Amino acid sequence: MFAAGLAGATLATGNLDGWESLGLMLFLVAGTLLPDIDVDGGRPQRALFGALSLVAATAVVAILPASYNHRVDWLPQIEPIGCEIFALALLAWFVVRYPLAMLFQRLSRHRGLCHSLVVGLCWSLGWVYVGLQCLTADVLVIWLQGVAIFLGFLIHLVLDELYSVDINNARIRRSFGSALKILQPDFPLGSIAACILLGVLIWLLPYPEELLQWLVAL
Ligand SMILES: [Zn+2]
Repeated sequence: MFAAGLAGATLATGNLDGWESLGLMLFLVAGTLLPDIDVDGGRPQRALFGALSLVAATAVVAILPASYNHRVDWLPQIEPIGCEIFALALLAWFVVRYPLAMLFQRLSRHRGLCHSLVVGLCWSLGWVYVGLQCLTADVLVIWLQGVAIFLGFLIHLVLDELYSVDINNARIRRSFGSALKILQPDFPLGSIAACILLGVLIWLLPYPEELLQWLVAL
């Protein structure tokens, strides 16, 4: 609903094409999945660590200097990569996919810090930062993608919170108040780390001039 509204509003300004608007919907859907990455073994968590492990492996291949490459006779299909780089990429993939994911499972608990607004903002601004650094897409599109992630995140928290009010029996479940929160006060170290990360992102990012102009023009 929000996605359609956002995409419709974006189309109306004539700044974005249909594909970019469709892309925004995907970002919104991704945002709705992010709060529950702390559900151990759940689909969002597996998808996130699957994607992160691929990013880690790709980064190894991209960052290690080309001088490191040499011919691998017994593995012709990975000839341009080189066997050391291939092994390191595999190691990076493995470390992120298994030990790191397990560490995350140990440190997080469901509806903990991952389910808070500050972490939602970190996801949103973190994406904008990565997008502005690595993508050639329009600056406004990248900002809107960040907004879509945060909106999706917010919708998830609000729906979780509404679900904890049992309307038929007019009573409030014990989970009330656990879904929509700014931080997790009983996990001070994690909460402080999230605030620091958010502060660094705000400091790194440029002033969102394109986004503000777009909002004014709505
Ligand atoms: Zn949730």
